[in-house]
Amino acid sequence: MALLTVDEYIATIRRRKSMEIWFRGEKFEDPTTYPALAASFNAMCKVYELARHPEFSKLLTVYSPLVDERVNLYTAPLYSHEDAMQKTRMARALAEVLGCCSHRCTGSEAVSGLFPLTYDVDKDLGTNYHERQVEWIKKIQREDLACTATMTDPKGHRKLKPGQQPDPDMYLRIIDKNDNGVVVTGAKVNQTGAIFAHEIVIVPTSAFREDEKQYVIAGAIPSDTEGLKYTLGRTPQDLRLGDDPEEMLDAGKKYADHQAAIFFENVLIHGNASLCVKSGNIPAECWSISPPFTASPQEDAKPVVSRCCLEPPSWRLK
Ligand SMILES: Cc1cc2nc3c(=O)[nH]c(=O)nc-3n(C[C@H](O)[C@H](O)[C@H](O)COP(=O)(O)OP(=O)(O)OC[C@H]3O[C@@H](n4cnc5c(N)ncnc54)[C@H](O)[C@@H]3O)c2cc1C
Repeated sequence: MALLTVDEYIATIRRRKSMEIWFRGEKFEDPTTYPALAASFNAMCKVYELARHPEFSKLLTVYSPLVDERVNLYTAPLYSHEDAMQKTRMARALAEVLGCCSHRCTGSEAVSGLFPLTYDVDKDLGTNYHERQVEWIKKIQREDLACTATMTDPKGHRKLKPGQQPDPDMYLRIIDKNDNGVVVTGAKVNQTGAIFAHEIVIVPTSAFREDEKQYVIAGAIPSDTEGLKYTLGRTPQDLRLGDDPEEMLDAGKKYADHQAAIFFENVLIHGNASLCVKSGNIPAECWSISPPFTASPQEDAKPVVSRCCLEPPSWRLK
């Protein structure tokens, strides 16, 4: 089974290239030993542990036709109503154990949201985004990689469109295209679990108009990609204890999550090596069905994603 042990997961995170991570104005090197992140790292490790636990494994894993073995459900597109229900049950079970975000959920929603979208776009436009996404999904399944979804742009002045912002970095945007892929600059905020993820999955923050194509970008890059800078946000589990006796918020919580702002400075998203859906030939309306951030299917709900693979031709949510 393509499931990392906790020790293997920790080793993969420690093997990453040095990342630029800041907290309260100071840079730190190793997030796996950083006190403010201890409870968050514990939670991530627990999620890996439970996927191999005899009592949890069936719920937390699923057979993947892409790699012909059981994989972590967080790395799998949703093929059926049953898959969606299993995912919700998994979320409930993990919430019972952790009492916080499981860290791997947001990336998983981006994976399953983009899966039918890239399929449909390819059918309409003759592109090969789906094929590339499938290759990338096989990699994250075989290597059991944790993904985080970077959706939320800072957005700046909410009444102004992206191109009208006084600060152009309020929306992640494409600033260059070359033979290797696209180069992006800007930021994403409130990124849960980003510092302990292997892969950063970029999805647009909202629907964009035809003249806003430079903001329409979906792709996946390793979290230690050159040009990424992380700023860890504050949580009740961080270093407030000791700062201020009035703020005795640390009750010894074992599990917690973290949010980080990610700054992108001329970051290359490889067009061939990883999933990369470029702007320029994606109809703007496609992005109005950008991935749901959370899924709470009801017992009688109809499948809303990934039917494309079972029932071609193209299925589209309008
Ligand atoms: C704990 C936590 C974890 C998170 N984790 C992630 C994550 O892992 N990845 C990720 O991508 N994001 C994450 N987020 C971000 C979250 O997705 C966003 O906060 C959410 O999508 C809302 O976006 P926003 O904060 O920019 O709010 P806004 O878009 O500013 O919206 C705030 C409110 O103002 C309203 N509003 C906005 N603009 C206008 C306008 N022009 N006119 C009228 N009303 C308006 C909105 O309808 C809303 O009610 C996280 C957030 C939290 C709190």
